[in-house]
Amino acid sequence: MKIILLGPPGAGKGTQAKSISSRYSIPHISTGDIFRKNISEKTSLGIEAKNYIDNGQLVPDDLTINMIKSRLEQEDCRNGFLLDGFPRTVIQAEALDRYLKLKNESLDTALLIDVPRDFILDRMTGRRVCPSCGASYHIKYNPPMILGKCNICGSDIVQRKDDTEATVRERLDIYDSQTQPLIDYYRSKNLLSIVQGTKAINEVFESICNILGRDYNDNN
Ligand code: ADP
Ligand code: ADP
Ligand code: ZN
Repeated sequence: MKIILLGPPGAGKGTQAKSISSRYSIPHISTGDIFRKNISEKTSLGIEAKNYIDNGQLVPDDLTINMIKSRLEQEDCRNGFLLDGFPRTVIQAEALDRYLKLKNESLDTALLIDVPRDFILDRMTGRRVCPSCGASYHIKYNPPMILGKCNICGSDIVQRKDDTEATVRERLDIYDSQTQPLIDYYRSKNLLSIVQGTKAINEVFESICNILGRDYNDNN
């Protein structure tokens, strides 16, 4: 099962990805999480990516594509994967297609979580994340069980530096110009499925399972 998640920042991709990954037993690969890990470990990739991310810009395609290719080479991706935050440009999507084609593989679904703009600012400014495991919370819509602590690993949750109102607006503009064209790209390949992301988190997950299928043990 090879899936990509599409949707604007704040659509709920990371939130849903955690549940999809555990139900369908495929690794959740978030380019944003990988970049943030590299930044905190001060690797050369992290140092190169940091300024782009802090300013809400996209990291250059070549850096991002090389990073994702080396991730997809890892053993745990043999039976499938869930990409969250990649591709974000047509150039990245074409690179992914070429990569899979060389291996005689192809994507199964491009799943768009559709959320109108007026929901987004509220979601993004209330978002809190776990720097250790990447779990995403919301101060109103999905608070952790213990104030300020990750449900999964107990770490202190934090606000991302790029989740300020000004940076979110910048990221939304970039989404519209660079990432939105991927919707047509995957529609024309008959791979696009759409779920409405405005309902509650568990209801969105139910809609996703209806699309991906219920026989999750044999689906890999
Ligand atoms: P993305 O990965 O697409 O940027 P996240 O999964 O991090 O989005 O979600 C953005 C914010 O919105 C988080 O604070 C998350 O808890 C919250 N959120 C996610 N899905 C929903 C939902 N269906 N309803 C309300 N809030 C949500
Ligand atoms: P969001 O939760 O808003 O969807 P992510 O965590 O996916 O954000 O990404 C955070 C930042 O990391 C992006 O604003 C961008 O700077 C960088 N980034 C993540 N994925 C990519 C990508 N595929 N191409 C370029 N930059 C990326
Ligand atoms: Zn955690």
